[in-house]
Amino acid sequence: MKTWRMIVDVAACEDCNNCCLACKDEHVDNEWPGYSRPQPRHGQRWIDVQRTERGQFPLIDVAYRPVMCMQCADAPCVKASEGAIKRRPDGIVLIDPVKAKGKQGLVKSCPYHQIWWNEAEQIPQKCTLCAHLLDQGWKQPRCAQACPTGALRIEHLDDDEMKLRVETDHLECLHPEYKTVPHVYYRNMYRYTSCFIAGSVSVTRDGNTDCAVGVGVRLLTGEKPIASAVTDAFGDFKFDRLASGNNYAVEIAMPGGNCKTLSIANLKESKNIGIVEI
Ligand code: SF4
Ligand code: SF4
Repeated sequence: MKTWRMIVDVAACEDCNNCCLACKDEHVDNEWPGYSRPQPRHGQRWIDVQRTERGQFPLIDVAYRPVMCMQCADAPCVKASEGAIKRRPDGIVLIDPVKAKGKQGLVKSCPYHQIWWNEAEQIPQKCTLCAHLLDQGWKQPRCAQACPTGALRIEHLDDDEMKLRVETDHLECLHPEYKTVPHVYYRNMYRYTSCFIAGSVSVTRDGNTDCAVGVGVRLLTGEKPIASAVTDAFGDFKFDRLASGNNYAVEIAMPGGNCKTLSIANLKESKNIGIVEI
């Protein structure tokens, strides 16, 4: 059976927060009977853009990761709700505002912290995937429709189609160890969760120091090369998608065939090794 899946591209998100604003525009002060009561103006973020920095100046990057209700197929919130939260056949998990009234304990049932308490209404609330719009034939919820970079989109897929998509696009879920079978999938999650090693190579000729362009650089673990790069117009190189906790060596090809090797033991975070003079 086909269900709705949200696919998020971490590399495409630019933290414009249009998605958050569109969500507010759709839900603040608006009741959608049968689906949701109004979202309060402050205190709830049904879609939240998390951010992280990697590296050290000047070789740094920033990644943004939108997080929302994961529309779990095996949702702890549903199990805890005694019928107040239901997963529809199309995969959308909805809180019934009438049945959930007064059930503040449901806020803690979500391991992703995606349920908020509405003090004025005395109800728990969360993202509805704009089910009221999808049921009218909309193809995307407001957040995805407002995203200018295509970082968010939903698709209606069965399990086999989704499995293929996960394999071909290297999609990952957030906290699979929670075992809730989330239906939100992330592309390019490495931008948020993995490390890089970067640096710059310079060369001095006739007393002038300049960027060393086109120099071969290899990354090794132990004796084994695992990646190679060539310095760009600024003399920079970068190896990304690296696991933390490993030992690495950066080998820079010197003119004349010699190599300069720098060791990085127990990589804990992304590292700019600085300027290497050859
Ligand atoms: Fe329920 Fe939380 Fe899963 Fe959403 S992310 S379905 S609120 S357990
Ligand atoms: Fe990121 Fe798109 Fe949201 Fe902007 S609208 S913050 S690009 S997900």
